[in-house]
Amino acid sequence: MDTVHMTLEEVRKIALSALLGHGCDEANAGAIADTITRAERDEARSHGLFRLPGYVTSLENGKVNGRARPTVERLSPGVVRVNGDRGFTPLALNMGRAPLAEAAKEQGIAALAIVRTHHFAALWPETSSLAELGLAALAVTSSPPYVAVAGGRTPFFGTNPMSFAWPRKDGPPVVFDQASSAMARGEIQIAARDGNTVPDGVGIDADGEPTNDPARILAGAQLAFGGYKGSSIALMIDLLAGPLIGEVCSFEAGEQDNQDGGAATGGELIIALDPSRFGAGEDAISHGERLFARMLAQDGVRLPADRRYAARARTPEHGIEVPRSLYDTIEELARG
Ligand code: NDP
Repeated sequence: MDTVHMTLEEVRKIALSALLGHGCDEANAGAIADTITRAERDEARSHGLFRLPGYVTSLENGKVNGRARPTVERLSPGVVRVNGDRGFTPLALNMGRAPLAEAAKEQGIAALAIVRTHHFAALWPETSSLAELGLAALAVTSSPPYVAVAGGRTPFFGTNPMSFAWPRKDGPPVVFDQASSAMARGEIQIAARDGNTVPDGVGIDADGEPTNDPARILAGAQLAFGGYKGSSIALMIDLLAGPLIGEVCSFEAGEQDNQDGGAATGGELIIALDPSRFGAGEDAISHGERLFARMLAQDGVRLPADRRYAARARTPEHGIEVPRSLYDTIEELARG
């Protein structure tokens, strides 16, 4: 594939220019550009520059407010709520993180409800940034309906991701971040763009028939991972990121959306837990270390996030390769 080499500084700069030139103010553009740059740094490509055209489309057509001013409210000792003012999530998240961490350290457990935002990114930045403050964290968000309910044939649940992070004694947290669909939609879009097929079990076509053709799945429905088990996790996420916090379910987000292919409106719930406040004392973290050591003693085992950390060690010095077609698109966006 024809690619263009970029440094991470160039990634942030081009993302910032494209966002500032299409309706974002400095605060929103900076938070989104940081999110995109972190994704490229960790080679989480489906949520890096690949998303930039989608951010711009939703800014241009007015679905998303590029000048959002999120507001933070502490509803109770353990519940913080951020109203994102119809913006993309990164700024709202930046504003809610410290109050959530403070509440979790005071209470042992606390939750952050982010509402009136558009989530178009990976979820691991939410949980890993809390784990870097010494907290365990769980985050969920819903997305527009792309995934059939177990037994169903049409899109109903979002790809509804869930991320969990656990702080470590030395070094970055253990983090997993996974869609409740068998494959993230961004990966299917990339497979369609690159002319590749996808594995069995990823989706069905518009007639409900299994297919390996990513374009037919995008026109049909994705499938949950693990059959009905993944479908139930998607259901839980729809409830936690929707009705619990006064936000829409995936199907409602789809009905309200302008179908521009970008992120629909929706909510996010983050739960933070202080491992030193559950009666195990400081030992909780040491005990976790013993678990990880036992896991890693087995051949072929790695911890979730280790692939990203390996990329993170490489990319600041070596930069990244961006497909030429994507580079041309974002370069044009950055020119205004
Ligand atoms: P993957 O299937 O690529 O990875 C899921 C998790 O499993 C990652 O944490 C990964 O860690 C870990 N993992 C993979 N292989 C192994 C292994 N062999 N051993 C241990 N751990 C492993 O993710 P998805 O395709 O499901 O999701 C991709 C992204 O899409 C996520 O970041 C998600 O947040 C995002 N998304 C966002 C949505 C939104 O609305 N904003 C909607 C849906 C998805 P590692 O990274 O180290 O490989």
